[in-house]
This record gives sequence, structure tokens and C-alpha cells, in this order.
Amino acid sequence: MSKTPILLSSAHQCGLELGAIQEAFAKNAITSGGMQVTAFEEDIERYLGEDCHVAGLNSGTAAIHLGLKLLGVQAGDEVLCQSMTFSASANPILYLGALPVFIDSEEKTWNLCPIALEQAIVDRLAKGKKPKAIIAVHLYGIPYQVEAIHSLAQKYQIPVLEDAAEALGSTYKGQKCGAFGDIGIFSFNGNKIITTSGGGALITKDENTKNKAIFYATQSKENAPHYQHSELGYNYRMSSVSAAIGRAQIQVLDSYVHLRRAVHAFYVSLFSTIPEVTVFSIQDSAYFANYWLTAILVTPNAKKSISQEQLRLAFEQDHIEARPLWKPMHVQPVFENCPYYGNNVAQGLFEKGLCLPSGSNLTDEEKDRITTVVQRFFN
Ligand SMILES: *Cc1c(COP(=O)(O)O)cnc(C)c1O
Repeated sequence: MSKTPILLSSAHQCGLELGAIQEAFAKNAITSGGMQVTAFEEDIERYLGEDCHVAGLNSGTAAIHLGLKLLGVQAGDEVLCQSMTFSASANPILYLGALPVFIDSEEKTWNLCPIALEQAIVDRLAKGKKPKAIIAVHLYGIPYQVEAIHSLAQKYQIPVLEDAAEALGSTYKGQKCGAFGDIGIFSFNGNKIITTSGGGALITKDENTKNKAIFYATQSKENAPHYQHSELGYNYRMSSVSAAIGRAQIQVLDSYVHLRRAVHAFYVSLFSTIPEVTVFSIQDSAYFANYWLTAILVTPNAKKSISQEQLRLAFEQDHIEARPLWKPMHVQPVFENCPYYGNNVAQGLFEKGLCLPSGSNLTDEEKDRITTVVQRFFN
């Protein structure tokens, strides 16, 4: 009998979803937009507080696309973007015909390096072009250096698009991630902290920007009895069925964050006696991470056949999914020839790093299987 696979992060039903979907169906709310979406937007607004306005969209990627458009990014513009991230952070730059300029990570948070970021800004300015936006990511749910990044953004007057797709529930100095940027985004894909079965949200500080996002997301239909369009539109609105699932899931958000952090603590304990492995953790008390995925760094030891890849293969043998970190964007063929600023910190992390199963639904039996593989591998 082959073992059931253990995945990095899979949808975790809380039991309230079907009831919420049934309620939507009873109202025949089976379309995009509508009351369920408005209610889910209000749930997120209540969660974030501080005058946040939220537009429900059908993916995090769509939210980044519209976010950049709302920040004024146009064809030929340059956008600064964290290189170590999921490709969805950067793809929308190309959708708009703009040029991504990739920035290295720093060792503390694995996110935007403020030094490389400033070098890039100064150099792009010297070359005669002011970058239109900065895309900053809270990778694996660990907040980026909020103050350092936003003070640079302020100094050079460049807006920040905060990619909080992985960071719902994380905070910096008690303030929730998603609400730091000029525009923030969340993802509710099936593998994220909570899911709508696929969906996203755009967060803004003013209602006009929210309404403009919804306008673009619904084909830029103007207020007229006939179909009138003066601007290019998109079909990016969240579906009401997705929103119903999200309304159920957001009720358990805090407990899911707690569970993800418990998984992280499990790995810290598991690897505490293994000198070749460090579990990526944020020690600074200003940072509160949801630890969406727990990542480790493996110091290679050729004599003992220890490497990140050997460990990954050992997990794979037992049907346990472990994956390298996000491969930096500036070394991806699709972004060939895009400028890059930094000292290869992200590449160094990529060569040693591995993400481990981190779901809030990880069972004790699954933890035992993981423990067995790790103990066998390192003995
Ligand atoms: C998941 C993710 C996205 C994209 O979200 P989708 O909802 O899948 O489109 C963007 N950025 C990061 C960092 C992500 O992890």
C-alpha cells in the first residue's frame, strides 16, 4: 500500500464552508460580485482595521496587476521587485509592458535588502528613469523590514505595493501585514493560510481607489444603460461562492496562524540536535510571523552525503513533499535581461534552502513520518 502524500500546504476545511455555500445558493448568489463578496470584504476590513478598504478579486495575481495599474504603472515604466518570491509577484509587471528591476534579499527576513534597494533607486535615477513602484513581499509570512523599506520609499517618493499573499495574520510592531503598503494584496489560493478555493484581495487606504479597483475588475463598465467603456477592463472580480467559503474560513484565521506556528515550533525542536540544519526563524520581537511555510537551510556535508537535495529526495521516497525555496526571478529565463541589484544573497539561500510541510492540518501521524525520515537521514 503506498502512503498518502504529505503536502507542503493544502486547503484546510474548518467545517463551516458547506453551510456558507448553501446559504449563498439559497439566495441564488452564484455569480461574480454581489452581497457575499461585499460581506467578505467587510470581514477583512474589520480584521485589518485602521481605515482599510478591501476589494475582493479572483486571485492575488489579479490584485497585483490592478494594484500596479492603480499606482500608475504603464508600458515602458520600471518597477522594483524583490527577486526571491513567487513569480506571481513579478508577472504583472510584464502584463503592463513595464520592466522589472530585481532586488536581492537580506539574511534577516529573506526579503528586500534596503541597501540593494537604495543602490538600485540611485542607479535608475542616474540612468534617467524614476521607478514607478516597489513590490515588497513578506516571504513565507515573515514581515520585510517595514521601517527601512518604507523610509526609502518616502525618501525617494516611490509607492510600495505590499505583496502580503503569504502573510495574512503576520504583524510588525503589532500592525497587521497587508496594511503597510500604498496598496496591499492578499491571496486566498488553496495553499495559503486561509482559502476561498482561489481568490485575492486588494487593500487600499481610500475608498475611491477600492472603487476604481472594482471598476477595472468588472470590465470598466461605466454607469450607463448601454455598455459603455472608456478604459480597458478586466474580469477579475471575486465570485460569490468563493466569498462564502472565505467568510467561513476567516472565522478560524487566528487558530490557523496558531497551528502554523506550532508546526514551525515542531521543526525547531526536531532539528535542534542536527547541526547541519537551521530552521528559518525571526528572533526580533517586533516581528510576528504566521510561518505560512517553515523553511530550513541545510549546510552541505559531502563526506556524509548531506545536502538540501539529498534530504529532499529522502522525503520524496516517503511521499513527503519538500521543495526548494522560491528560485530568484532574476535567474528565471522568462525574466532574462532584466536588471538586478544585489550580492547574490537570494541565490545563496536558494542553494541551501528547503520548504517543509507546514499546513495547519498537519496531523501527529504525519509529524511522526517526517520525524522518522529526518532521523534516518541524519543518523
Ligand atoms: C500565492 C502568491 C501570489 C499569487 O496569488 P494567487 O492568488 O495564487 O494569484 C502572489 N505572491 C506571492 C508571494 C504568493 O505566494
